[in-house]
Amino acid sequence: MLSKAVQDAINEQIRNEIQSAYLYLSMSAHCEAKSLSGAAHWLRAQWEEELEHSMKLFKHVYDRGGRVTLQAIEKPPTDFSSLLGIFQQVLAHEQKVTALINNLYAIATKENDYASQIELQWFIKEQVEEEKNASEIIEMLKMSGESGPTLLMVDRQLGARAKG
Ligand code: MG
Repeated sequence: MLSKAVQDAINEQIRNEIQSAYLYLSMSAHCEAKSLSGAAHWLRAQWEEELEHSMKLFKHVYDRGGRVTLQAIEKPPTDFSSLLGIFQQVLAHEQKVTALINNLYAIATKENDYASQIELQWFIKEQVEEEKNASEIIEMLKMSGESGPTLLMVDRQLGARAKG
C-alpha cells in the first residue's frame, strides 16, 4: 500500500509527465509550421515517450493499491525561437524534471517505500538519457548554425529518430 505522501507525490509527477508531453507536442506543432519536419517528428516521439512515463507511474499506483487522481494541465507555450533555442528549452525542462524525480525518490526513501524506490530508479536513469540526448542535439545545432543546408541536415537526422 502506498502512503499518502508517496501517492500524492506520484500523482503530481503523473501530471508533470503529461505537462512535459504537452510542451513537446506544442514545440512539434511550431516546427511543423516552420517546415522543420524532422524536428517535429523527434518532438512527437518525445511526446509519446512522456505519455508512456505518465502511464508507467499510473500503473505503479494501481499495482500498489493506490488511487490516481489527475491534476490540471496548463496551456503550453506556443511561441518558440530558433531550433537551438527550442532544444535549450528541452534541456532546461528535463533538468527541472530530474530535480522533481529526485525529490520524489527522496519522499519514497523517507517513507521507507522500497518498491517505489525501485520503480523510480528507472526514471532516474531515464533522466540521464534525456539530458544527454538534448545536450547532444544542442551541440549539433551549435555547429550547424541557424539556417541553410547544415541546419537541414540536422533536421533530417532528427527525423530519423525511431518511435518509442
Ligand atoms: Mg519524462
